[in-house]
Amino acid sequence: MRHITTHDAPTTGLRSIGDTSWHTRGACHGMDAEDADAVFFPGPRDHEEIAEAKELCGWCPVRRECLDFALENVLKEGVWGGLTEAERRPPQHVPPYNGVGRGGTRRLTKP
Ligand code: SF4
Repeated sequence: MRHITTHDAPTTGLRSIGDTSWHTRGACHGMDAEDADAVFFPGPRDHEEIAEAKELCGWCPVRRECLDFALENVLKEGVWGGLTEAERRPPQHVPPYNGVGRGGTRRLTKP
């Protein structure tokens, strides 16, 4: 059986942080640069553009790789892997547990 390879993916199946070989298989690949800028780098209130980007990303075969790339490289702007900048942000800081509250083991001292 003959195998045709395009050499657009690492042969090991592992990917380095800087690897962008997945991009040529993205649904947005080949888009006009100005259109891509408008759709994938919208302002926070550009709801139509954000929806358009999410729709395109929704059926993109390399969505996971695209999102991983954005997270690994701490990309702050744009829609990557179908998530906006705000959606990729880690959850807000949770204060350290002080032993008080649900399931706490706070020791009571005798008066
Ligand atoms: S997930 Fe979206 S931004 Fe990423 S390659 Fe696919 S279409 Fe482009």
